[in-house]
Amino acid sequence: MKGISILGSTGSIGIQALDIIRIHRDRFRVVALAAGSNIDLLEKQVREFRPAIVSCADAGAARELRARVSDLPGQTWIGQSTEGLERAATAEEAALVVGGLPGSTGLLPTFAAVESGKDVALATKEVLVMAGELFMNRVAERGIRLLPVDSEQSAIFQCLQGNGDSEINRIMLTASGGPFRDASIQDLQRVTREQALNHPRWKMGPKVTIDSATLMNKGLEVIEAKWLFGLTASQIEVVIHPESIVHSMVEFQDGSIIAQLGATDMRIPISYALAFPQRIASGTSPIDFPQLGSLTFHEPDAEKFPLLKAAFDSLKDRSTMPIILNAADEVAVDLFLSEKIPFHRIPRIVLEAMDRVDPAQVETLEEIQSFHESVVERVMKDWRLWIEPGGQPR
Ligand code: MG
Repeated sequence: MKGISILGSTGSIGIQALDIIRIHRDRFRVVALAAGSNIDLLEKQVREFRPAIVSCADAGAARELRARVSDLPGQTWIGQSTEGLERAATAEEAALVVGGLPGSTGLLPTFAAVESGKDVALATKEVLVMAGELFMNRVAERGIRLLPVDSEQSAIFQCLQGNGDSEINRIMLTASGGPFRDASIQDLQRVTREQALNHPRWKMGPKVTIDSATLMNKGLEVIEAKWLFGLTASQIEVVIHPESIVHSMVEFQDGSIIAQLGATDMRIPISYALAFPQRIASGTSPIDFPQLGSLTFHEPDAEKFPLLKAAFDSLKDRSTMPIILNAADEVAVDLFLSEKIPFHRIPRIVLEAMDRVDPAQVETLEEIQSFHESVVERVMKDWRLWIEPGGQPR
């Protein structure tokens, strides 16, 4: 019985991980759940899976949850914020921690899981985007298994099984192209929040969905792949593949290309990460190839989606540029979701931040975290000046 801790249990990844665990009760036991403020769903999860440790967003949410589940027999520790996340990430009986917290909140608890020797099924891109080198060093030092959950990274990871010692020519990350794949640059100026949140292929959380619409998501995956698989930026290509059936490919030295295909369903990569190296039922439907007819591939439009190139650019030196890119994007997506800026301002704000914020020297996790926070503050303070006509000169 494998003990599982889920960070972000009420988010898209957490819910689907629990769907798989529900099919395989004989194999997995939930020992810890960490979520934010969705107490209704968290209460249901606690009643169903009876974890020993539960973490909520804040003291108020924890109090509320304690009152609601007071009828349950046995002891459940219910805590909150940093301490709660840390307890959930390092739960003694957990062999595997699912890292599904959104954005930079996932950074510290994911590191804590690695430090305490847990295997990690990683969905939070920001861990590798913000602290890739440090994180991969810790993973190697602690000798834990790092299992990617992001569908593209899982695909690459699956293609590499049995080919570990072979030289990679390049990897090709596929991208659906998002909801605005065929939109013109002019169309992008009139996009609504609802249109941007309506992804044609994948059901995901709001931040990832908006990032998919700007192709920032693919940019973050380029950075993620660099660290996960020890590649240079020149070995990574992005291919638009609207059908989202080929989840990514690896080309080896001999010219062979190995791809991983499957339904557009996150339960496949999540189940692979949960049960690795075995494959288990994930509850997905089979693909009917004759019905599908054809698979198509084309080049991404760099002019329409400048954030993809920005992500490649951020890798040019070993500075903190990826942290600036990521922090500015977090702020810009928030501004768009709260309807303070139109869609086409998201890339503008990120590019301005990369241009205007000075990179720093960071080594420790604390320095990375505080640099990230300083960039968030700076962008929140200055974005209006940057994008308004007659604003602050560079
Ligand atoms: Mg992905």
